[in-house]
Amino acid sequence: MPQYEGQCHCGQIAWTAEIPEERHVLCHCTACKLMGGGEFTLNQIIPKKNFNLTKGDLKVYSYKGDSGNSVDCYMCPNCASSPYHHQQIMGPDTIVIRTGLLKGNQKWGQPAAEIYDKYRDSWLPQTAENSFPLGPPS
Ligand SMILES: [Zn+2]
Ligand SMILES: [Zn+2]
Repeated sequence: MPQYEGQCHCGQIAWTAEIPEERHVLCHCTACKLMGGGEFTLNQIIPKKNFNLTKGDLKVYSYKGDSGNSVDCYMCPNCASSPYHHQQIMGPDTIVIRTGLLKGNQKWGQPAAEIYDKYRDSWLPQTAENSFPLGPPS
């Protein structure tokens, strides 16, 4: 399985991740926009065991997802780059990794899907093969 390296902006944390499906899923939800400062984030669902923190410690920020379950966002305590988040509704063994922070992802090409597409800004065209108005329950 392909392994990728990631690093936060300040360099205090670093990680590796094995990615089963080398495709981005764009998320246009409000939380992604507020935390990322952009119109969407780049994601993929992977087994938690595929993520390996190789440097530093992560801080956790949690909020309630649509289902009422916690969404735990793991980030660098210094610069707030976030390698992944854990939606508790998905169970303990699955995380959502931010594929945009993985080195070498440029070769992946066209995204696989866009979720929360009903919140996509009107000036931004759909770029993925598939589009879903909402996402899996968070
Ligand atoms: Zn950092
Ligand atoms: Zn989102």
